Amino acid sequence: MSIYKSIDTSLIHGGISMDERTGAVNIPIYQTSTFKQDGIGRNRGYEYSRTQNPTREALESLIAELEEGRRGFAFGSGMAAITAVLSLFKSGDRVLISSNVYGGTFRVLDKVFSGFGISYSITDTSDEEAFKKEITGDAKAVIIESPANPLLTVTDIERIARIAHEKGLLVIVDNTFMTPYLQRPLALGADAVLHSATKYLGGHSDLVAGLVVVKDDELADRIAFIQNATGGVPGPFDCFLLIRGIKTLGVRMDRHTANALKIARFLKEHKDVKRVYYPGLEDDAGYEINKKQAENGGAMISFELSEEKDSRKFFESVRLIMTAESLGGVESLVCHPATMTHASIPEDIRKKVGITDGLIRLSVGIEDADDLIKDINNAIIESGVK
Ligand SMILES: *Cc1c(COP(=O)(O)O)cnc(C)c1O
Repeated sequence: MSIYKSIDTSLIHGGISMDERTGAVNIPIYQTSTFKQDGIGRNRGYEYSRTQNPTREALESLIAELEEGRRGFAFGSGMAAITAVLSLFKSGDRVLISSNVYGGTFRVLDKVFSGFGISYSITDTSDEEAFKKEITGDAKAVIIESPANPLLTVTDIERIARIAHEKGLLVIVDNTFMTPYLQRPLALGADAVLHSATKYLGGHSDLVAGLVVVKDDELADRIAFIQNATGGVPGPFDCFLLIRGIKTLGVRMDRHTANALKIARFLKEHKDVKRVYYPGLEDDAGYEINKKQAENGGAMISFELSEEKDSRKFFESVRLIMTAESLGGVESLVCHPATMTHASIPEDIRKKVGITDGLIRLSVGIEDADDLIKDINNAIIESGVK
């Protein structure tokens, strides 16, 4: 638990934030695979970098503090973090996932863990009754994203956690879209929170990493064992970059989210935009619940152009905003969920959950909001008539 009053301070001084031996104000990059032992069975707390590394330890202690958990764990990617958490389960277990969970989470369950006898069901965690129906004997956990990718569907984390706990399920929240700066799922009742740190936490589109934080010691010991046994750890340099990124998370998120609200309002008023999904807009379906559990609506917006427009042309017409996978960096990015981030989800499921071919997902960066609006407006004009 943080000794500081505000997360703004913890972002900079949280966890192990300086080098005690030298006084260096930044944790050094301990680029080493192994550590000298002073005798058999006598080490200085470090033996081998898959097991512990001081740079990674600094990052892990920082994220644990930010997410208000017991212990943090770093991984080589968000998917490695998810894989480590899913490795808690065994043959015969079933995992419930939100209907528009991250495509890679669906894929690893559908194509990898299914081979080990771990099954999944897709449920709508924003619909309590639908969720309750899925909780039967073999259901062992639920993975929630709120807001979920890419329709920004909001789930009441506290309520779903309460229902899930009554039946003994483990509650796992993918907090990539919100970050601990905007939402802290462990405080809302989750058992584990995970991140693709590639996104907002890193913040500069220059690294791939994942993080997990858990609430109790028993779960921490199990994840620590899996982390060391399966070995999906990040290198010390990426840990350093991530610590450096996290220091500016607060100021970045303030700008990201202020820009997003301005752009969402602009899109909402635009005559050629059919629908806007952004939980920071007062008339959005998820607004009230999101407001209860998060600081604001975040900086991801999805929208659909009107039927007369060719949304594929939109991606060729943006000049400042880049068409790319990923999100959460300082630069604004757009993607086409149906063929990019959610391509691994079969077409029938995609259509059922509302990921249409016309859907555009925007990760709002920290550029000037009016420049971004001008770019979006031009691209809509150039999307012309089909
Ligand atoms: C990107 C992402 C992941 C996967 O993380 P990687 O770092 O790309 O492996 C998982 N969940 C969400 C919500 C994501 O956006």
